[in-house]
Amino acid sequence: MKIAILTIGNELMSGRTADTNSSFIAREANLQGWSVEAIMSVEDNFASIKSRLNYLLPLADVVICTGGLGPTVDDITTEAVAQAFGLPLYTDEEVLNHIKAIFTLYKLVWVENNTKQAMFPRGAEVIPNPVGTAAGFALHILGKWIFVIPGVPRETKKMFPEGVIPILRREFPQNEQYIAKQTIKTFGLGEGAVDKKLADIDFAALGVNIGFYPVFPENHIVLVSRQKTQEAAEEKLKLAQDEVTARLDKYIFSYGEETLEEIVAGLLKAKKLTIAVAESCTGGLITSRLTDVAGSSEYLERAAVTYSDAAKISLLSVPAAIIEKHGAVSEETARLMAEGVRKMAGTDLGLASTGIAGPGGGSEAKPVGTVYLALSDGAQTLCRHYDHRWDRKRNKMIFSQAALLTLKNYLQGKG
Ligand code: AMP
Ligand code: MG
Repeated sequence: MKIAILTIGNELMSGRTADTNSSFIAREANLQGWSVEAIMSVEDNFASIKSRLNYLLPLADVVICTGGLGPTVDDITTEAVAQAFGLPLYTDEEVLNHIKAIFTLYKLVWVENNTKQAMFPRGAEVIPNPVGTAAGFALHILGKWIFVIPGVPRETKKMFPEGVIPILRREFPQNEQYIAKQTIKTFGLGEGAVDKKLADIDFAALGVNIGFYPVFPENHIVLVSRQKTQEAAEEKLKLAQDEVTARLDKYIFSYGEETLEEIVAGLLKAKKLTIAVAESCTGGLITSRLTDVAGSSEYLERAAVTYSDAAKISLLSVPAAIIEKHGAVSEETARLMAEGVRKMAGTDLGLASTGIAGPGGGSEAKPVGTVYLALSDGAQTLCRHYDHRWDRKRNKMIFSQAALLTLKNYLQGKG
């Protein structure tokens, strides 16, 4: 089954809004095993919408439209689709009551043009909107299917999977496939290097599709298997996953959608451990990421951004003589920072970063990108040294990643 996507809205054509609905729909459609034949955007204009529909219909079995379902005069998608096929509009009482109920619930003033959102071309199947007032619809005409759903991304994300996909699966049963999917997250190798390490695997022969998604500083791999039964899909996926693991093992930090900070949070909570953080070059980024997870107060006691030597000395009790002798960016200082913040906070763990984010401040012995990350648990302090060569922002990000990975490995007994 072939799909075309038509996103409708003046804001898309002026560049004020980036078209994220197309990529969302395409991704979901691909997961179902349906191919996307064309993606187009068009302004809110009768002639333009009709002309683009006429262009796309011969290319695909299904055209999915988003946008232009609001109550205002500029939203004309329903009327344009009706006109394109010479269909009259009718008012759906159920949808009208749903919209009126929302107005009552939020104590909004009813204006007559809201009835517009309850109007559909004759013969359309209404697709309810559980998260807004604009219902969508499906139209089976001239042997093709046309779907129209709202443009608000939050509503598209709800209505495409819950409203459109079930109708397509019902109408195109011969396309029915079972899907197994696995995300594998790696860190420490560039996209090209990941690709090269996997080059000898014949994914097509394994019956699995592979996709690469760089999400700096991580590289994600997504494996998708589509088969006639769920068991077959799972089985093929497992084989492909084992092949990937065999080649990338030490770079893989997660199987699944969880973020690194969520994994660390889960481990700290499970082990009932508390942590304090002392950050120099990362400027609070490690702590910011740790607190991105809801419920972080369970494990994070406090954090200090000790940027200057004076702060490391007075807040963390790092002896001035150590900084004098080894430098603020050194293994010795990093270890004492981790131990110092742990003692100050009275936590189970202390985590520290000190490094050179750049672009200035580097030397031959300690170039820009040098970082020391230390983790202390009272009994032992471990320290990792890395040398990255990115710009300032990406260095900070990669330092925080390495710090969280050091913590994760320690918590999993791989420290
Ligand atoms: P509409 O359904 O046309 O009234 O769209 C409502 C809002 O959703 C617009 O103002 C945009 O901010 C947003 N929007 C519409 N279409 C898209 C799209 N294709 N991608 C991302 N956002 C969109
Ligand atoms: Mg619009």
